[in-house]
Amino acid sequence: MPELPEVEALAAFLRERAIGRTVVRADAAAFSAVKTFDPPMSAIAGATITGVGRHGKFLDVDVDGLHLVIHLARAGWLQWRDSLPPAPPRPGKGPLAFRLHLAPEMPGGPVSGFDLTEAGTQKRLAVSVEELAALLSAERAQVKGVLTHQAVLAGIGNAYSDEILHAAKLSPFKLAAKLMPDEVARLHAAIHDVLTDAVARSVGQQAAKLKGEKRSGLKVHARAGLPCPVCGDTVREISFADKSFQYCPTCQTEGRELADRRMSKLLK
Ligand SMILES: [Zn+2]
Repeated sequence: MPELPEVEALAAFLRERAIGRTVVRADAAAFSAVKTFDPPMSAIAGATITGVGRHGKFLDVDVDGLHLVIHLARAGWLQWRDSLPPAPPRPGKGPLAFRLHLAPEMPGGPVSGFDLTEAGTQKRLAVSVEELAALLSAERAQVKGVLTHQAVLAGIGNAYSDEILHAAKLSPFKLAAKLMPDEVARLHAAIHDVLTDAVARSVGQQAAKLKGEKRSGLKVHARAGLPCPVCGDTVREISFADKSFQYCPTCQTEGRELADRRMSKLLK
């Protein structure tokens, strides 16, 4: 699932590309992608896109007062298309869920727009970062699990939670409810800093390149065996079943290596 900075970057990208453009039509290729029947999707045809906002992980495309609200489900993605074929996509073929066609910018120019692809089930959006301290105090799970649990904090996935815990100098296995006030404050600052940095890196990038861009700038995530850029210790990896995450012992666990078996507690 795209993480919060990527959704913000997609909103910024669409603001540049789509505001002021006229909608030709919208095609739904997957029944699950459409949550409206009144007004019908055809209601936005001929209307102009006047704004693009973001609410949590939802993109909100304002089409002259009608709102096209997009939630990128697990593994979902938005891809800008400089030229779209006129024929409607065949339903049920491939991951394409939705396609928006925009009128050419110049007479005779190509119909551009964007595709939404999705695979997997939609997860619900929950609360925001501001309620962090109250949230953590109610959680008996380990902080890594709490950060990545989509029902608790929207927008932080595996990669950014590794980075946030590293920046906050916290062990992923710390119990959320037992964090001291200074640890909660560090965590809050780290969430803000890591996500803000990621947004700054992502904005202005081509939407299609964001998945690769997300990898750059990471200090511990996906860097097992490489030196920690903060202290020089070797980044370690914990894996369990199909999950894995990375951390720096010197920065986060007072030099101790974490045992894989404790990962089982994160998966509850
Ligand atoms: Zn380190």
